[in-house]
Parts: sequence; structure tokens; C-alpha cells
Amino acid sequence: MEAKNKLRMTKQRQVILEELRKVKTHPTADDMYQMLRKKMPKISLGTVYRNLEILSESGIIQKLDVGGTQKRFDGDISIHSHVRCVDCGRVGDIDVTPKYNLEAEAQKMTDFMIFRHRLEFTGLCPICQHKKKATA
Ligand code: ZN
Ligand code: MN
Repeated sequence: MEAKNKLRMTKQRQVILEELRKVKTHPTADDMYQMLRKKMPKISLGTVYRNLEILSESGIIQKLDVGGTQKRFDGDISIHSHVRCVDCGRVGDIDVTPKYNLEAEAQKMTDFMIFRHRLEFTGLCPICQHKKKATA
């Protein structure tokens, strides 16, 4: 995916992007704020939120469409799928490549013009599996 338009890289924006790319946790804006406060004590939640939105609108990061109450962000814009824990909301990566072109298959069945599809897995993360066992 190419960045859709040239974006002015402010210092704050650069740091937000660097921090997001360091993690595999698909953080929410709140999570990012907690991470960034250590480096930039004066940064506000609003600034973090606004910059994450701008970065995702520009195609530099991706905003995940996974279920859950808070939006999550991913510094990895390569095509990959996600698995969401139904208990704690943790999101992990799954690199599955569909065996055939789903968009082309879907296109044959509809008058809609198909752009892409979204594949989301749900399950129980290792920590929640462990909790389940402990309380069983
Ligand atoms: Zn979990
Ligand atoms: Mn991901």
C-alpha cells in the first residue's frame, strides 16, 4: 500500500509512528498515549488520537476494523489478518494467504464493484486460556 498523499512529518508524528512500528500489540490511542508519555511528557491524548487518525488516513499506518469498543492501530501495513481475543480484546497477527483470489470470486457473484475483503479470526489468547484453566 502506498501513502496516498505527502504528509508533513512533524516531530510528534514521527515519534508516534516510530513507537507504533516498534510494537506488535495493535495498541489503541490510549495505549499509545501511555507509551508516548514516557518520551514526551507534554503530549496530550487528543494529539495522539488526532495524529493516529491522520497517519491512517494517509495510508502510513492502518486502523484496524476488528471488533471491540476502541479502535486499534497497526504500524504494519502489509496485507495480513488478525485474531482477536474474545475475553480481553488482545489482537494478534495471522499471516494466512487465501488460496484463491477472494475478491475475484466475490466479483462474479455481485453487481457491486469489489475492492477488498476483511478476514477476522476470534479466539482465546494464551493468557486468557491460562486463566480459564486456573479457574476451572
Ligand atoms: Zn485474552
Ligand atoms: Mn497486524
